[in-house]
Amino acid sequence: MYASRMGNLPPYLFARIDEMKAKQRKLGADLIDLGVGDPDLATPPHIVDALCTAARDAKNHHYPDYAGLPAYRSAVAGWYKKRFGVTLDAGKEVLALMGSKDGIAHIAEAFVNPGDYVLVPSPGYPVYRTGTLFAEGKVHEMPLLRENNFVPVLADIPKKVAQAARILYINYPNNPTAAIAPAGFYKEVVDFAREHDIVVISDNAYSEIAYDGYRAPSFLETKGAMEVGIEMHSLSKTYNMTGWRIGMAVGNADVIAGLGRVKTNVDSGVFDAVQHAAITALSGPQDCVKDACAIYQERRDVLVRGLQSLGFDVPLPKATFYVWMPVKDCMAFSGRLLAEAGIVATPGVGFGASGEGYVRFAITRPVARIQEAIGRMRGMDL
Ligand SMILES: *Cc1c(COP(=O)(O)O)cnc(C)c1O
Repeated sequence: MYASRMGNLPPYLFARIDEMKAKQRKLGADLIDLGVGDPDLATPPHIVDALCTAARDAKNHHYPDYAGLPAYRSAVAGWYKKRFGVTLDAGKEVLALMGSKDGIAHIAEAFVNPGDYVLVPSPGYPVYRTGTLFAEGKVHEMPLLRENNFVPVLADIPKKVAQAARILYINYPNNPTAAIAPAGFYKEVVDFAREHDIVVISDNAYSEIAYDGYRAPSFLETKGAMEVGIEMHSLSKTYNMTGWRIGMAVGNADVIAGLGRVKTNVDSGVFDAVQHAAITALSGPQDCVKDACAIYQERRDVLVRGLQSLGFDVPLPKATFYVWMPVKDCMAFSGRLLAEAGIVATPGVGFGASGEGYVRFAITRPVARIQEAIGRMRGMDL
């Protein structure tokens, strides 16, 4: 019944985890779900208020501008200037997205011919791979290994693959490893992209979720980056707005135009009232972001210190709301956590073959629940 490209999609591990969760709930288990990469915190009230006001205005009820409201694109450019010192032409170098997943899922359609390679981090956000497969491109996995600080070794990519590659994905702060981009890495990426004529897609969804004074850069701050690529960003993680579906692609005007052309034929833009709320988020006070980071930081400390006290070798992440922990067999480990302790953690292999040997915890639950999880693990023979 289905097209053959459907058969090429990887099995959706997360659907299986959902089934296992449902089974445990039915058995009456009090599950502590540290599996979901979705903030449990609410969207700040001033942003919700802006949506309500805008939703009542009939001029916002029509088809939106495909590229986004000029005022939204200006607000994005203003935020990039203020936050990263990156100058963007709001007319040509900024595109509204229905969340960054929208851009990631569709970009390959504009740049990848059947059989072209796309360079995808493994482990990585699953949509880099599926977007490539929908465009009938070939995925080349770049392993993110602990001994390399979870950055790909570009020199390890076979020459033939690099020559036939059209897109390179990078994502720092990283999901799922919580790694940050080491100094000098982005410069290496620019040089590599220039040499092989590759479009770089930097996924910077977690730039604002950082700890201990760390400030994540934008890829576009790097000299030459604007010539070779774009950055996908989003309000989802920064302002607890995952359900609102709003983000942005920014950077090289030709790449933005290519993505925009695909999207013009797929969707009809982001609801104007949501864009008005996003303007308020980006242009208004940013204390809400600081407050959220303080909450995550406390949870991070409780979880990581707890895991360390149980004998696990797990570092304190500087950014993202994930903890990436080495284990022997990720499926067996997460299966036992769920069955014996009612704790949901994501097996690393769900993010790609090189995720084997790890589980990912999301600190998207209150401190008391994280303490409870550590207590339950203490009772297990791990
Ligand atoms: C959450 C996430 C996104 C997508 O978020 P949107 O809600 O679609 O903006 C993109 N990349 C990574 C790595 C993520 O974790």
